[in-house]
Amino acid sequence: MEEESRVALPQVSKVDLKCSFTFRNSKQTYSGIPVIVSNMDTVGTFEMAVVMTQHAMFTAIHKHYTLEDWKLFATNHPECLEHVAVSSGSGQSDLDRMSSILEAVPQIKYICLDVANGYSEHFVEFVKLVRAKFPEHTIMAGNVVTGEMVEELILSGADIIKVGIGPGSVCTTRTKTGVGYPQLSAVIECADSAHGLKGHIISDGGCTCPGDVAKAFGAGADFVMLGGMFSGHTECAGEVIERNGQKVKLFYGMSSETAMKKHVGRVAEYRASEGKTVEVPFKGDVENTILDILGGLRSTCTYVGAAKLKELSRRTTFIRVTQQHNSVFS
Ligand code: 5GP
Repeated sequence: MEEESRVALPQVSKVDLKCSFTFRNSKQTYSGIPVIVSNMDTVGTFEMAVVMTQHAMFTAIHKHYTLEDWKLFATNHPECLEHVAVSSGSGQSDLDRMSSILEAVPQIKYICLDVANGYSEHFVEFVKLVRAKFPEHTIMAGNVVTGEMVEELILSGADIIKVGIGPGSVCTTRTKTGVGYPQLSAVIECADSAHGLKGHIISDGGCTCPGDVAKAFGAGADFVMLGGMFSGHTECAGEVIERNGQKVKLFYGMSSETAMKKHVGRVAEYRASEGKTVEVPFKGDVENTILDILGGLRSTCTYVGAAKLKELSRRTTFIRVTQQHNSVFS
C-alpha cells in the first residue's frame, strides 16, 4: 500500500514575517513586518516607534507632536525614520504642520491621511493635493470600507488605503450612528479592489488578540493597524494610575470627549463624540506584547503551511462559526 504523502510544514522559527512591497503611486519600496501602531495619541508615540523599529515594525505617529518634537526625534533616533509616518487630518493647519515636518525631516517617507469618514469629495481632493505636493512619499489614506472608494482613493494618488469604520476597541460609531461595516468582509472586499490596481490596504481596528491579526492578514490585508492591543504599555503616553490596588493606564478614542477636550478644548455641540475612554491594566514593556503577536503569526503560518506571511492569504479559508473558543474556564 502506498504511504500517504504529506507536505512538509514550515518550522515556526523559520517563518518569514517580513514582507516587501513596491507602492503604486510613490514607487517606493517597503520591507518590514507589516504591523502598524495606530496614530492615536496614546499609542502612536515616539517611544513606541523606537521599540517597533527594533522589530522592523511600523508606527503611525500621532498628529499632535510639534515640529520641534519631530526635529529632536529625528536627531536622536534617525534609525526610526524609515518606519514611521507623519499623520494629518484634511484641514489646512494639519497640512501646514505636516508639510513643515516633511521639509525639516526629509528622511521620512510615509504620510498617513486619517479622517473618520473617507467618503467626502473634500477628502478625495485633499489626497490629490497631497500627492501633487509630495510625489515621492508613500501615502496612506482612509478610512473607508468599500471597494469603489478604495479604487477612487488609489486613483487619486494614495498608495495604501486604511480600511475600517466602526470596529475599533474604543470606537462608538456603530452605536452612536448605526454606521459601520463588518471588518472581515471589508478587508476581503477592499483587498481585492486594491490589489487589482496594484494598491495596498491596511486593516485598521478590531483586533483583540494575535489570532485576529492573523485573520486580517489571511483576509488579504497587506498591513494590520492596532490601537487597543498596544495600549497600556510603558511606551504609551500618560501616567500609570493606581486604581483599587491595580495599575492602569488611560486609553481613549481620538474622537472621544477626552481627546477632544485635550486637543480642541471641547466637544462641538452639533456632533456626538464617537469614542470612549477606558482604563486598561498596565501591561509593562510593549516588547512582550510584540513577541506574543509575532509568535502567534508565525504559528498561524505553520498551521496553514505558509513559509512566509506574504503567502498567508493564499493559504487561508474562512468558515462561518458561532463560537470561536472554549469558554469553560473563562
Ligand atoms: P483598535 O485596534 O483599538 O480596535 O482600533 C484602532 C482604530 O480605531 C484606530 O486606528 C482608528 O481607526 C479607530 N479609532 C480610534 N479612535 C477612534 C474614535 O474615537 N472613534 C472611532 N470611530 N474610531 C476610532
